[in-house]
Amino acid sequence: MSEEVKQGRPVCGQCGKPAVMMIDEIPLCIDCEYKFQQSRWMVFAQNAAMYNMADRQMVAVTGMPHLSSQIDIPNAPVPPIHYNNQNVTVQGGTVGAINFGNVNDIQVNLQALTQHGEIGVADALANMTNAILETHELAEAQKNELLEQLAFLSSQATAQPQERKPGMIKSVLGAIGEGAGAIKSIADAWGAVAPLLQGHFGIG
Ligand SMILES: [Zn+2]
Repeated sequence: MSEEVKQGRPVCGQCGKPAVMMIDEIPLCIDCEYKFQQSRWMVFAQNAAMYNMADRQMVAVTGMPHLSSQIDIPNAPVPPIHYNNQNVTVQGGTVGAINFGNVNDIQVNLQALTQHGEIGVADALANMTNAILETHELAEAQKNELLEQLAFLSSQATAQPQERKPGMIKSVLGAIGEGAGAIKSIADAWGAVAPLLQGHFGIG
C-alpha cells in the first residue's frame, strides 16, 4: 500500500490507486481518468464518422452541390506519463536524478503516434514509461538508461520507414528486453509493448 493511501487520500473508485480528480463524484487516478476520456473520445469519433458517411451518401444520392459540413474529429487523448502520482508536464531538466529530457521526448512522440492513430502502441509505450518511472527496484542511472532507449524507440516509431535505423532498433529492443527481465512490473509492460513495436517496425 502506498504512502498516499495510508494517509487517507481518496483512492480511485476503479482500481484503488491514489486518486487525482473527481468525475461525477467518483474519484479517479490518472490512468483511469485517461481511460474515461479515451472511451468518450471513441464514442464521439464513431458518431462523427457515421454522420460524415451519411452526409457523403446524401450528397452522392441527391447529386446536389456539397453545402453541408463534415464534423472535424479531434485527435485522440494522449496517454499520460506520471511520476509520484503527478502528471509529468515538465519540459526537460531533471527531477531528483531522473532525466526528464528523455521523458519529454517520449511524450512528444506519444502525441505524434496518437495523432497518426497508433493508439495501441502509444498506450503501451506510456505504460512502459510509467512502469520504469514508478519502480523502486531500479537505481536512477538504470532508469535513465531505459528511458533513453525508450525515447529512441519512440522517435523511430514516429519516423518514416525509410528514415528508420533497423539495426539500432533491433539492438535496442534486445537491450531493453534484457534490462527489463528482472523486474516484474517492467517485464509485464515490456511484454505488452515489445510485440506491438516489432509489428510497427515490421521485424519478427
Ligand atoms: Zn484507477
